[in-house]
Amino acid sequence: MNEMGKREWIKMIEANIKKEPIKVYWAKLQRLSNYRSECPFCARGLFLVKRSQETFELLDEDTCTYCATRIKYMDFDLLLQKDGVK
Ligand SMILES: [Zn+2]
Repeated sequence: MNEMGKREWIKMIEANIKKEPIKVYWAKLQRLSNYRSECPFCARGLFLVKRSQETFELLDEDTCTYCATRIKYMDFDLLLQKDGVK
């Protein structure tokens, strides 16, 4: 992705946040670690894995740190296994 102006970037984020989560497989993402995956949509941001603020449990939905694309992990059980929950 080329450098975009701040205004375009904000527009993109606003649009992405309103969209339904895109179904992805955590195992297929380019991962830097269990909890850091590269965003395949903007190739710039990361998915850092979210936790519930109340229970601290991992959540199966995530948001890119750069483009704000929302995803839902289709293989969430795998992620939980890596976390030692299952
Ligand atoms: Zn992204």
